[in-house]
Amino acid sequence: MAVIETLKHFLKLYISPLNRIKLRTHYRWWSGLWYVGNKCECPCCGIRVRRFLPAGVVSRKGAQCPCCGAFERHRLMMLYLRDRTDFFTQTHQVLEISPRYLVQKKFQSMKNLTYLSGDLFDPLAMVRLDVTSLPVKTASCDYILCYSVFETVPDDIGGMKEIFRALKPGGSAIIHVYVDWSRDETFEDAAVTSPEDREKTFGGRFNCRVYGADYPRRLEAAGLRVQCIDFVSVFSAGEIARYGLTNVRYIFLCSKPEGQNLRGEA
Ligand SMILES: [Zn+2]
Repeated sequence: MAVIETLKHFLKLYISPLNRIKLRTHYRWWSGLWYVGNKCECPCCGIRVRRFLPAGVVSRKGAQCPCCGAFERHRLMMLYLRDRTDFFTQTHQVLEISPRYLVQKKFQSMKNLTYLSGDLFDPLAMVRLDVTSLPVKTASCDYILCYSVFETVPDDIGGMKEIFRALKPGGSAIIHVYVDWSRDETFEDAAVTSPEDREKTFGGRFNCRVYGADYPRRLEAAGLRVQCIDFVSVFSAGEIARYGLTNVRYIFLCSKPEGQNLRGEA
């Protein structure tokens, strides 16, 4: 234990916080190789492993890739982009909000993409950004990827309108949130402010709501055209187990129709 504590002390003294986070990410990758096998496959990093790892506030089995850290929602997104879009074959302007670092590295290496990532807090993202004020030109993005962000944004409709503004007409955004389908309406309570109370009430220390079945309508209120695609259902039971998709179901595909102005009017 003393050796580990000394090592941690050394790392804090001589390595910047940003590089320590990068080091942790690379450490996870290399330690994840312990799980290499052939039962499961992560479409985000391409690794084949014996199993995905449990993760989540309420721990879920088979949630996280041991190497790149991708969750079920990221793996489903990657499969959707691979199988149903021209994301990997045509040139695109892409904005990713709250990226997974190793997914970001993959997209950065793709010659067909002009890629930008951003996050309000994550120092590994390329820029610091607030989703309610995106640092990109109007109608400049072919794709926007946004995962598990709006649960934490007080003005979520404002952020959705920003995504609408940033999309090119005909462009697409995949905007994932956790939805509690047993609720008809999204549950919010501005009086709940402490991280502990937010975790108890909304399921996350930074969350300020739990989305209900009205989530697609909130996106539509921002001008977006929304398709809730049950993309998991296209896979066989064997593929669902292989890609670790048991705790996810929908791709929320949002588009900006051609010929609409900035207010979403035809
Ligand atoms: Zn992975």
